[in-house]
Amino acid sequence: MKLFDVYPLIDVTPVKASGATLWDEAGNKYLDLYGGHAVISIGHTHPHYVKRITEQLDMIAFYSNSVKIPIQKDYARELGRISGYPDYELFLCNSGAEANENALKLASFETEKDTFIAFKGAFHGRTSGVVAITDNPKIVAPFNSHHKVHFVTFGDLEAVEKALKSNTVAGIIIEGIQGVNGIRVPDGSFVTALARLAKQHHAKLILDEVQSGFGRTGRFFAHQWVDGLRPDVITVAKGMGNGFPIGGVLIHPDIKSSYGLLGTTFGGNHLACAAGLAVLEVIESEQLMANADQLGNWLMEALKSVEGITEIRGKGLMIGIDLDRDAGPVRSELVHKHRIFTGSSAGKNTIRLLPPLSIDQQSLHLFLESLQSVLTLTEA
Ligand code: PMP
Repeated sequence: MKLFDVYPLIDVTPVKASGATLWDEAGNKYLDLYGGHAVISIGHTHPHYVKRITEQLDMIAFYSNSVKIPIQKDYARELGRISGYPDYELFLCNSGAEANENALKLASFETEKDTFIAFKGAFHGRTSGVVAITDNPKIVAPFNSHHKVHFVTFGDLEAVEKALKSNTVAGIIIEGIQGVNGIRVPDGSFVTALARLAKQHHAKLILDEVQSGFGRTGRFFAHQWVDGLRPDVITVAKGMGNGFPIGGVLIHPDIKSSYGLLGTTFGGNHLACAAGLAVLEVIESEQLMANADQLGNWLMEALKSVEGITEIRGKGLMIGIDLDRDAGPVRSELVHKHRIFTGSSAGKNTIRLLPPLSIDQQSLHLFLESLQSVLTLTEA
């Protein structure tokens, strides 16, 4: 059977990985500054992660939610404590798209309304509901296009208010930091105003932290850089499992979730919870949030002296670099000549960096030198 072509491939076959290093079949070594799209949080094959998953696998890997699964409670307690949301409820699922689908569903049930506000350039996933709130018409099938969505530009409070006045808006969904759109950080005062307006018009504020969460920006969630914000719903996945498929919906205590409203067979299975716990434990014990904060600031500052860069955006280890030229050939040179993985973005001039949070300064130094060398040798 031929495989469905999902993405254009990086022409490398990694067969082994450790920390921020990948090795291909021929034994060539690569530096991973993409983390499999912000998924690798604590580093590839971290020994504590491997041990916890292996031990769990040896005991019980899976049973459906029809039995008691105490490790789910352990996970919820630890996530609540580390994230600063101990009073929220956690629904466990398997991916970012699934987390967002459930967030939309909850907001719509809770408000009995059927419209959403999303943002220009947003990416929330590819399943039926969330593809409609993803600002990419190319991937919205006719079947999915009937959803009622207002796409608004960051900062345009007038448009937000106008949509809310229709009294049909169940929720506003915003990424902590827009990822696929090239790392766009929303203004803190804008997000605060969204929270206020949502409350005023009985709509729910949903923070999609799928890419920006789990310490990537130097705080547990990107929206925690904004003082006093407590979203109604927060969605998570990617870095939550460091490669193990797991997602989650964090639900404000005022929202009345009820039995049977949400569900999924694999969500919260023993193995996923063991992987998730290992991730939280390593984030804490290795102070990976502090590392992301310090090294992110250092790298963004250092990038200012690289010629050929027109803009640097980001927070912590979630960085967008705009070049004065097409990023495609530059990224290709970085992979094939310097053996460094970087990410692409919606804009063709942008390089996206989403390395493991355990990365060290020496590796980022190597990237800086390699990028400067590629930019000096390729045509602007
Ligand atoms: N939300 C955001 C902000 C994302 O970046 C992504 C994935 N790129 C998703 C949701 C969808 O996650 P998944 O691919 O796990 O369904």
